[in-house]
Amino acid sequence: MARMVVFRCRNCHCDLTELLREVPLPQEDSAPAPYALPKGEECPPRMRPGTFAYDPPEAGERVFRPQLGGAALGLRRAGLDGIVLAPTDVHGAQLTSLRGRKNGCCGLDGCDGPNLVCRCCMAEVATERSDCWTPREVVLVPAAVEAVNVGYPS
Ligand SMILES: [Zn+2]
Repeated sequence: MARMVVFRCRNCHCDLTELLREVPLPQEDSAPAPYALPKGEECPPRMRPGTFAYDPPEAGERVFRPQLGGAALGLRRAGLDGIVLAPTDVHGAQLTSLRGRKNGCCGLDGCDGPNLVCRCCMAEVATERSDCWTPREVVLVPAAVEAVNVGYPS
């Protein structure tokens, strides 16, 4: 049975996400970008709502867990390595005020570092990607969040 997890801001412990279930990382090419779809068709998010995955899988080892302790390590790609989930499952974060982080063609490309901040304390916690050439996803920064185990679904 999969573990159910809520991700919180490591700085202030506000909830950032819905209750989520870990699933295997989807194949890189399984997530369409809007440009690849017929005109007018809505692009599905890379992750199904209610699920998350570690991308790369080692990112899971970097997440701080209050009950275990943990070390924050460096990231390979600023903002794009971490915990991937559907944008609709992130309710505790808002768009950054840093203009340089909000680049993109017709959405956010997420290439300049985290663009979502914690609603409670404004810490940088995640990167949203919503551009025409990117998958639709939110990537939580492992070092900025903590995974709180909320038990097992019955
Ligand atoms: Zn916070």
